[in-house]
Amino acid sequence: MSFHDFGFDPRIMAGIEAAGYVDPTPIQQAAMGEVLQGRDVLGVAQTGTGKTAAFMLPILHNLLDGPRRKVRALVLAPTRELAEQIEQATREFARDTDLKSTTVYGGVSKRGQAQRLRRGVDVVVACPGRLLDVHGDGDIDLSTVEVLVMDEADRMCDMGFLPDVRRILAELPARRQNLLFSATMPKEVRRLADELLHRPHVVELANRAPAATIDHALVLVGEDRKRDLLEHLLETDGCASAIVFTRTKHRARRLATQL
Ligand code: AMP
Repeated sequence: MSFHDFGFDPRIMAGIEAAGYVDPTPIQQAAMGEVLQGRDVLGVAQTGTGKTAAFMLPILHNLLDGPRRKVRALVLAPTRELAEQIEQATREFARDTDLKSTTVYGGVSKRGQAQRLRRGVDVVVACPGRLLDVHGDGDIDLSTVEVLVMDEADRMCDMGFLPDVRRILAELPARRQNLLFSATMPKEVRRLADELLHRPHVVELANRAPAATIDHALVLVGEDRKRDLLEHLLETDGCASAIVFTRTKHRARRLATQL
């Protein structure tokens, strides 16, 4: 299956080419057609699978028809790093279109964000807290949203964003497309998915095991033998390089000095 099989507008195909993508990843193959048709989608997939393009390419294609400079697609992400990543990808995919996107997240001044929103954008990638904040200030109109994406929903729950998310949902039009992505499906996320999604197309990547090149081992050892064991493992496995995680920064410093 190739990107050409989805019938993307040439302006979207240009974005795919600009991103350097040749073949769609499994989640893209499984989800893009459904998103294009306007269906709700539940994607159980981790970052690194190509899920951003899986939802954003069809969203941009669908937005080509219709008005401009109204918030028609809203992506919620748990961290500003993820929001930045998604928006950068969006900008690349949309480079040959007249669609505009922006980010909304905390930890930086609200003024620039509010100005960009007031000038008008079609896609907003936001963290829930700051989005509510700018909405409270009257700087964003959410009543025109046609498609909502919740990315990394499990992390969103872990980070305590669920009440904020619910407040945002209450501001959105009832008739809209909903896409929810999550690496894991704990009870809270399942409940949210049940509430949010209408007869969703479910995409679950079967291969969620660690890469075949990685061996896992658990070794039980007393506190006083840990360092010897680590040295032994590093020597016998002939590691050229290794990353060792410790519980505290103090331990990390001490271990590094000892090694
Ligand atoms: P994501 O899971 O969306 O964070 O994507 C992970 C990485 O894979 C990003 O660097 C993407 O640019 C890249 N990627 C996504 N789709 C494709 C594709 N079809 N071909 C090659 N790289 C891709």
